[in-house]
Amino acid sequence: MVNESVAAKAHRAQPSTPRDHSSEGVADSIAQAEYPDSLFESHLLFDHVLPPSEVGNRERYEAMARSVRDLLSHHWQRTDQTYRRENPKRIYYLSMEFLIGRSLSNNIVNLQLDPVAAKLFTRHQLDKAAILEEEPDAGLGNGGLGRLAACFLDSMATMQLPAMGYGLRYEYGMFKQLIVDGWQREQPDNWLRRPDPWEVARPGEAVEIRLGCSFEIRGGSLRAIEGIPSSLIGIPYDRPIVGYGGKTINTLRLWASATPDNFDFQEFSGGDFVDALAERLTAETVTRVLYPDDSTAEGRGLRFVQEYFLVACSLADLIRRFRSGNPDWHSLPDKVAIQLNDTHPSLAVAELMRILLDEAGLEWVSAWDLTKRTLAYTNHTLLPEALESWPMRWFELLLPRHLEIIVEIDRHLRQEAADRWPGDEGRAACVGILGGGLVRMANLAIAGSHSTNGVAAIHSRLLREATVRDLAELFPERFNNKTNGITPRRWLLLANPRLAHCITEAIGDSWITNASQLRGLLPLADDKSFVASIRSAKREAKLQFRDWLQATSGIAVDPESIFDSQVKRIHEYKRQLLNGLRIVALYNRLKANPKLDIQPRTFFFAGKAAPAYHVAKLIIKFLNNVAATIDGDPDVRGRLKVVFLPDYNVSLAERLIPASDVSNQISTAGYEASGTSNMKFMMNGALTIGTRDGATIEMAEAAGEENFFLFGLTAEQVAGSRGWYNPWWHYENEAETRAVLDLLLSGHFCRNEPEVVNALRNVLLAGGDTYRHLADLGPYLDADQRLQTLYSRPDEWSKNAILNIASSGRFSSDRTIAEYADEIWNAKPCPVT
Ligand SMILES: *Cc1c(COP(=O)(O)O)cnc(C)c1O
Repeated sequence: MVNESVAAKAHRAQPSTPRDHSSEGVADSIAQAEYPDSLFESHLLFDHVLPPSEVGNRERYEAMARSVRDLLSHHWQRTDQTYRRENPKRIYYLSMEFLIGRSLSNNIVNLQLDPVAAKLFTRHQLDKAAILEEEPDAGLGNGGLGRLAACFLDSMATMQLPAMGYGLRYEYGMFKQLIVDGWQREQPDNWLRRPDPWEVARPGEAVEIRLGCSFEIRGGSLRAIEGIPSSLIGIPYDRPIVGYGGKTINTLRLWASATPDNFDFQEFSGGDFVDALAERLTAETVTRVLYPDDSTAEGRGLRFVQEYFLVACSLADLIRRFRSGNPDWHSLPDKVAIQLNDTHPSLAVAELMRILLDEAGLEWVSAWDLTKRTLAYTNHTLLPEALESWPMRWFELLLPRHLEIIVEIDRHLRQEAADRWPGDEGRAACVGILGGGLVRMANLAIAGSHSTNGVAAIHSRLLREATVRDLAELFPERFNNKTNGITPRRWLLLANPRLAHCITEAIGDSWITNASQLRGLLPLADDKSFVASIRSAKREAKLQFRDWLQATSGIAVDPESIFDSQVKRIHEYKRQLLNGLRIVALYNRLKANPKLDIQPRTFFFAGKAAPAYHVAKLIIKFLNNVAATIDGDPDVRGRLKVVFLPDYNVSLAERLIPASDVSNQISTAGYEASGTSNMKFMMNGALTIGTRDGATIEMAEAAGEENFFLFGLTAEQVAGSRGWYNPWWHYENEAETRAVLDLLLSGHFCRNEPEVVNALRNVLLAGGDTYRHLADLGPYLDADQRLQTLYSRPDEWSKNAILNIASSGRFSSDRTIAEYADEIWNAKPCPVT
């Protein structure tokens, strides 16, 4: 059980809750609703210069967002002033991804401006939903890792920690997904096509990044030109991160790449204007796209440049800030904590060493000590294909000085291993950073930092025991766990206002900033009127989702049916295919016995497949075919329905999760590092059917396993079956499994798509069923049966949902951040004055 005490301590450390001293927040500095009106009207007129008849919702959205930004600007600037004056230890969160979603509604909620905003909407007869809809999702991330970064920023600002996020300002975020004839189609996400009202460009704080070579684009790919050094300019774009109550407004600083202003066309291009233009295009290409896959990036060379660009810009910026208040380089670890979100920014180890050696002129020993004490690293995955390594050749070309430093780090590290295990060359080879002509970035991050954490207890354990066992034995004190969390502001207060209201009516509103207070709901699990209010909140959320789906897609779903959801990136290990097999089994049961008494069920899927991940795209096609087959079959229509919702993003998650009754978290045990959608569902009163994997294990522990529908192989059983597992055994010995596969492989769902059938045969049988779908199908169906039985007893179901909500407080990102602050960063709140 986790350290409630740490979280509690951190909460005590907060000087006040927003309610106690609300005079400090932004909300109270606003004079009774007149002020925003005039701001709104000014922006509408002056920013667009249009006659009122031509003003549309997009212009209204921009004016609304700009007036909210105006309202917070003073306090945003004061936050910065306070940090400069108090000179606290600052936290820098470096991440290649921030999956932010929309900001207008979130900022209104966190500033507690809802009543003011509501008046404004009414007075101007504005369609609130339509205006909020005008804001594109800031989708600067692939999935969980990027969303975690966004939840952490919210928690750090709410807890008044002096923190800043650093990322890249991709012009194109995560692709938009269309479903055409059941297939995924990708479209570019040009989210900055229209001006973004939240960002503040700061060209005055641009930094210059030097590279060891130049580049050109030939035939669409990036080519290095050896021996001619070049530079890139990083221009910061700041976005406000509003803590709940509006007391602290931190900054997310995103870097855009540009060509130097003093760029010498002659020198670089021999006077050829076309070459010079190509050079400029190349520089600006660096932050053009987010790679649509967090495990295997295409265009890897450009990705490598992006990673260095993030690191170099951010370190130059934060070192400049450090130097302006601290003359002594040796105080760096007392004033700066840098958290590396996965290995993507782990070049920071070499870059910080370079700065301390070459710019500060420190000795190696002292530079290495400061580097380790300043940096900390979070590992996010055990999948071997996601452990980054970059060719040494690229370092030679682009970052020759960094390579020298890495070679030296590698030499010291091997020496340490040799001292520890004399004569054991195998060990030294395992811990080494260099090997096979590659630089192993996880090893670099572990060696160059004082903390390596996993993101759930089981993940941290497997990381230590298997993935990087030798490094963990060499530096046992560096390894720790920080179970992920989600912000209850966006995922409950904003996404599910009705449920939030029920909770506040019952136990007050302190849960918003202290989610462990949700425990106060435990005694109400049997309270008739509370149970009724929870049930009606869920029903309202389902009706609202039904209406939205009908209006936007024409799809009709039955709110009396169980809403059963699985929403996440499409990946074999997440096993959307196992969910598909479960649906086919239920379909078979209904076909065999039309009188079978089952609860009507609507299965929702949503998620994107990496464009180059062929099998994942076939899984999407298969699920859509199952949906169409069921819709066309009068025997099952009305009892089962499958809906694949296109273009999964934060806004879709905010709509669907509050409406869901059932959360599917069914990854092959040992593969999902933590998961965070599992936590969002739990906090919104859905019951979980899932495997013992990631944070789901801890969630079940918190709520009591009897209140979860757990099933399937454990991580140990999966690992132990590696030598002998045989999917054919299940086919031959389990009648229901065989019937499901026979139907699938007969092409029943994929009449005209032999490639889909072939892929299913290969994944599930011929290829050995790496992810153990067949081993877990029977137990999944058993758990599903238990779930259906409980649903037929509404009072017991609701009681269970309340126990889940009451136990979800541990999975607030405030608790996670309190642990990082205490145990890794040694950072304290710095209230704005
Ligand atoms: C929470 C979230 C995720 C992470 O989902 P997992 O089920 O934990 O993989 C991915 N994408 C979006 C848009 C999210 O909101």
